[in-house]
Amino acid sequence: MLFGSLAGCAPDMRCVKALQLTLAVVKPDAVAHPLILEALHQKILQNFLIVRKKDLMWRTEESERFYAEHAGRFFYQRLVEFMSSGPMRAYVLAREDAITHWRGMMGPTKVFRARFTAPDSLRGQYGLTDTRNTTHGSDSVQSAKREIAFFFPEFNADEWMLREEPRFRLGLTEYNEERQIHTLQDM
Ligand code: UDP
Ligand code: MG
Repeated sequence: MLFGSLAGCAPDMRCVKALQLTLAVVKPDAVAHPLILEALHQKILQNFLIVRKKDLMWRTEESERFYAEHAGRFFYQRLVEFMSSGPMRAYVLAREDAITHWRGMMGPTKVFRARFTAPDSLRGQYGLTDTRNTTHGSDSVQSAKREIAFFFPEFNADEWMLREEPRFRLGLTEYNEERQIHTLQDM
């Protein structure tokens, strides 16, 4: 299942398993188009609880540091320049199996493959090229931890898991239209 209700959760979003956090980024190619950005936000809302959201722009150094694992690859320079070419939007998202679910929604890295093998995926629908491919998503628990800290240094994921996850899991949240994130209901 690609989009739809939260797997393992009741319709009111009450979940049994612990929630997992992941980092999702809307890349500059998609942020440049307000209607695409809004469509992505709505798809995220249908699939995740939004724990944090931030609009930002990178300098070249941040782009290089974030993608250091790809240094030396043929596309590295192009990637680094693209990711610091315009505004981005980053999210900390929560649900069961958040990492795998978001990667599944994104579709394959290469846009031309995505268009053929996963036409309904985000990259299949909105991706422009192998570099300008709409979104980023963490690919493991370790990278989610590192990448969330990279984008949201002020956010303490361990603390959130301890103090807020139980109530998020029980569905004791509300969507704050102004901040465009989910917050805990007043007790
Ligand atoms: N990329 C590219 N050309 C390639 C492979 C990757 O420009 O042939 C870019 C693309 O923007 C991709 C990013 O480098 O999202 C990171 O690559 P990775 O293999 O980690 O793909 P992802 O995890 O984003 O699917
Ligand atoms: Mg990757």
